[in-house]
Amino acid sequence: MVDLRRTRVLNEQPILPTGGVVYWMQRDQRVQDNWALLYAAECAEAVGQPLYVVFNMVTKFSNGAMRQFDFLLRGLAEVEAELRTLGIPFYMVRGDCVETIPAFVSEHTIGHVVTDFNPLRFTAAWRTDVANRLTVRLTEVDAHNVVPAWVASPKLEFAAYTLRPKIHRLLTEFLTPMPRLGVSTALAPLPPLIDWQELSDWLVTDRTVAPVTWLEPGTTAAKRRLATFCNEGLYDYATKRNDPVLNQLSHLSPYLHFGQIGAQRIALEVSKSDADRESRDAYLEELIVRRELADNFCFYNSDYDKVSGAHAWAQKTITEHATDVREYVYTLAQFEAAQTHDELWNAAQLQMTTTGKMHGFMRMYWAKKILEWTPDAQTAIDTALFLNDKYELDGRDPGGVVGVMWSICGVHDRAWNPRPVFGKIRYMNYNGCKRKFDIAAYMAQYGRKRESLFA
Ligand code: FAD
Repeated sequence: MVDLRRTRVLNEQPILPTGGVVYWMQRDQRVQDNWALLYAAECAEAVGQPLYVVFNMVTKFSNGAMRQFDFLLRGLAEVEAELRTLGIPFYMVRGDCVETIPAFVSEHTIGHVVTDFNPLRFTAAWRTDVANRLTVRLTEVDAHNVVPAWVASPKLEFAAYTLRPKIHRLLTEFLTPMPRLGVSTALAPLPPLIDWQELSDWLVTDRTVAPVTWLEPGTTAAKRRLATFCNEGLYDYATKRNDPVLNQLSHLSPYLHFGQIGAQRIALEVSKSDADRESRDAYLEELIVRRELADNFCFYNSDYDKVSGAHAWAQKTITEHATDVREYVYTLAQFEAAQTHDELWNAAQLQMTTTGKMHGFMRMYWAKKILEWTPDAQTAIDTALFLNDKYELDGRDPGGVVGVMWSICGVHDRAWNPRPVFGKIRYMNYNGCKRKFDIAAYMAQYGRKRESLFA
């Protein structure tokens, strides 16, 4: 049984026991290890009605481009195929979900709609609007976090150290083995297969940001990568993860972002691995505490991408340093084209634009330099998020919002010794990078004169 603490009722409408149940899939695009789908299946089973899965495709998604849509579509094609093996119909509707989901509900006499959880404001607004339109119950399930966001904490957390003990206390209750979704007992007819090429052609999106070839989308590829990571990269993760040249990370963030694999599955597999304890703990800290802290920030802070969303000390120091002279000021176009005076920064930007995934350590340096080289902190946030969301495969995610806000506005961080432009926001510089890793090797890999692209 799905723990009901994972669920929230989003409207006051009744559950009609005579209709089917729909899982409106959004953030968690996988069949197994998906609490929202399991809950929808349980609800359907309880009333002996068929289960449907529906995805609403929008033509434009934040600043995402063809690179991200390609990852999404190919992952969903696998979802469609896997659902068919279980006899569960998968429907693709297109356009404004506030119209399409209620229309699907009335056309198929649905008695209950279940959806997954995402704290970003535009998806939260979709759910609110759909909830208000429906005349049947809309239930939201947090299928993304190991500990549901509203259970982990009822409020905005100050930093990782305030959320960590709360999450750790709840892990024995929530980090449990996941039941498998089986074949439905009440079956509905399967719709015609989706024409994925036609759907891809229908999208109005920036096709100049091309799909990447080094990372295959979909749940099967995600599980393969997880297995490889548990057998190889996880060893020494604690000591090697901050070296951008080694790039010894799991590379699971794109799959996590699209929900093609669940954090709970990753956590269970990592916990079983015989890699060193320090590395397993370091990885679980990132995967659970840091990732879920990002959801907490976006869930409880409506100004999550504004200077006004930062701690009071950070807002004060940013204001005090607003008129400090910037040695370099670049436009968005210059940043985008990797045309700064700093070849290390340019290499990081090029790693992102060419591979769709900048190393985590470089992301911090990259965003902090944007603060240093833009006229004000809000312009820095907007610039960093625009570029992050346009090029990163894992962009348009609370992890990106918080990464940018941590770097530029000190979110979840503390005050440091003041310096020009940054004030008390933590500073990072070129020489610091030089001491930490082989910057020449990194620039040779990804910079203008790169020897090889990400393999
Ligand atoms: P691994 O080191 O293998 O980590 C495993 C998982 O832990 C990640 O997939 C992620 O889910 C989580 N994780 C790791 N580091 C963090 C972190 N600092 N905060 C929250 N969760 C973390 N993450 C995104 O998912 N999407 C983004 O758009 C994004 N943009 C960022 C922008 C900036 C400026 C910064 C500083 C960080 C950003 N991050 C983002 C967080 C982090 O850099 C990435 O999650 C990580 O690099 C993803 O690569 P990985 O899966 O190989 O990482």
